[in-house]
Amino acid sequence: MLSSKLEVLVDFGDKPEPQLLEKTLSELKLRDGIHEAVFKDGAIMVETSLPSTEVLDVVTKTSGKRAVLQGFGETQSAVAMISSQSCCKANVMGVIRFQQSEEGPLVADGSIDGLSPSSLHGLHVHDAGDLSQGCESIGGHYNPYGSPHGGPEDPQDRRHAGDLGNIVADENGRATFRILDNVLKVWDIVGRSVAVTEKKDDLGRGSSPSSRVDGDSGTPIACGIIARSAGIFQNPKRICACDGVVVWDERDRPIAGKGRRRDTGDAGDKDSCCRKETQKKPCCKV
Ligand SMILES: [Zn+2]
Repeated sequence: MLSSKLEVLVDFGDKPEPQLLEKTLSELKLRDGIHEAVFKDGAIMVETSLPSTEVLDVVTKTSGKRAVLQGFGETQSAVAMISSQSCCKANVMGVIRFQQSEEGPLVADGSIDGLSPSSLHGLHVHDAGDLSQGCESIGGHYNPYGSPHGGPEDPQDRRHAGDLGNIVADENGRATFRILDNVLKVWDIVGRSVAVTEKKDDLGRGSSPSSRVDGDSGTPIACGIIARSAGIFQNPKRICACDGVVVWDERDRPIAGKGRRRDTGDAGDKDSCCRKETQKKPCCKV
């Protein structure tokens, strides 16, 4: 299976304690799906076919230190921050990273929180990167070949290029995934958007008319614009007194759900947030 290179920054302080570093590296190397783990230029370089969230979990649990993903992929990389774009709707949030080598498939590596527990949801790249009306203005599935809707295993003329199939939420409502795709290319999707739908995608195999359009997967419940991002060693920022704290703080904060701080200050009060939003934006349907 194609592996990805991850650059993991760990909060070891000025200098990592040799024993702790060794323990962390050995634990990583013991895992199925991790092919290499070395300490280089202040970061742990991992070569893996596991979702990046799983690798970060191993590092955090073994070292007892905070860890963040600093770089992803050797060549072309992109990232999308996914959210409901409106607090009137479900509070779904996450990050999806895309990586592409010259030859070989695109890797979509992500973690999304706030989904219904133990449920399937469609994942699609959409035509437009326009969030002016939230997830309602991102257009249809990205479809450069004029094909009907399908599944990721279908050939190019039997699926939208943007059809990435389904992601599975665990009992806590978190979906962690690493999808390999042979049709999409990173350079074709930067500036477009990616969305998660409320329902399962039937991959064009259903009997309803919408099956051939969007897999009868319902409306997008969270989406985000795909932007170019830093690959390995392309992000020279290191932890320092000025901004390092921000990096670690972000990792400590849950992406969604309990404990997530809202900008409005009224944490968890969805009704109040929704009222404010409706007053602000008359187009927002409650
Ligand atoms: Zn589609």
